[in-house]
Amino acid sequence: MHILLTGGAGYIGTHVMLCCLEAGHSVTVVDDFSNSSPKAIARVEALAGCRVVFHQGDIRDAALLDRVFQESKIDTVLHFAGLKAVNESVENPLSYYDVNVGGTIALAQAMGRAGVFRLVFSSTASVYGEQEKMPLTESSPIDDPTSPYGRSKRMVEQILEDHCASDPRWAIAVLRYFNPAGAHISGQIGEDPRGTPANLIPYATQVAIGQRAALSVFGNDYPTPDGTGVRDYIHVMDLAAGHLMAVDYLRMHMGYRVWNLGTGRGHSVLQIVQELENIIGKPLPTNFAERRSGDIAQCWADPARAERELGWRAQHDLNEMLADHWRWQKLNPKGYDS
Ligand code: NAD
Ligand code: UDP
Repeated sequence: MHILLTGGAGYIGTHVMLCCLEAGHSVTVVDDFSNSSPKAIARVEALAGCRVVFHQGDIRDAALLDRVFQESKIDTVLHFAGLKAVNESVENPLSYYDVNVGGTIALAQAMGRAGVFRLVFSSTASVYGEQEKMPLTESSPIDDPTSPYGRSKRMVEQILEDHCASDPRWAIAVLRYFNPAGAHISGQIGEDPRGTPANLIPYATQVAIGQRAALSVFGNDYPTPDGTGVRDYIHVMDLAAGHLMAVDYLRMHMGYRVWNLGTGRGHSVLQIVQELENIIGKPLPTNFAERRSGDIAQCWADPARAERELGWRAQHDLNEMLADHWRWQKLNPKGYDS
């Protein structure tokens, strides 16, 4: 198959790209490199031993998308391109709605013009917002995401569902990722945040390598077993495997479907710190700080639907996830610019 990855040079896209190439698919990437580097694609090509076609540009550029679809006979689109920083989305909501919502509409329109009707969309557990009842199933309410970022993803889900209902040729899979972490075992590709990492694990590994003084633990008074926030961390290679299974599913099933991709287990910030300390073999400087605004106390997935319908289940545990993240950080202290 020929698969188009929008945002393929980013953290999750690179890992999925590698798995697509290893599975024998051809790959085209559209990425504006606003949060990534062409070096990431070169690393994937070196690991896979084959080339991908890539176009630098914006998914909102209809003429570019038309050219991409004319150049290659694309079967399926994996849509990663978008903005993902929760805090930034509060400060600049219009760009989040523009890129995430407007970009997806532009992409779906270009797909329609090209006669390509299979789409996998990167959604997020953020659509669930704060919930009392754990674990989260795909039927948990998504009425109240806590940020413009989460709302932009929820809007896209609703738009895609409506679009699918209006035209029976479409097959759309929405994957709600929980908290992606880890890296490919080679240490050659991984998460390369620009500036200060917003997420726990990249921040913690930058502290571990000495680039940052200490990890601030945001809140120790949550109603969780140790008072710190609980999340369902999922290895990026498990996410990648889930995408390939969704691609297979769409070959056989039309319509709109949503799956949680998580492990079904929650870990607190302090558990992450302790596990990372075991791996690096030294204490990690930490301090307690105020709760981060917009944060929820806890969240973990019920991944049963993905197991039942896709045959997907997370294979990597927390220790492997942190060890892989740490290997990538050590080998690439400055990310792809190392
Ligand atoms: P990332 O920023 O590493 O990758 C996104 C890629 O999209 C980048 O390469 C960026 O340059 C590109 N991009 C951004 N705007 C673009 C535009 N207008 N046109 C073309 N390319 C554009 O992010 P990621 O972590 O790989 O996330 C991929 C997707 O998964 C995103 O949609 C994100 O919202 C979603 N997601 C991520 C997480 C996470 O914690 N990493 C969790 C849940 C969902
Ligand atoms: N967190 C923290 N310090 C940091 C970054 C995050 O204590 O520097 C906490 C955060 O409050 C949350 C958990 O780690 O409880 C995961 O945060 P992350 O930003 O990685 O994911 P998200 O909150 O988006 O699920």
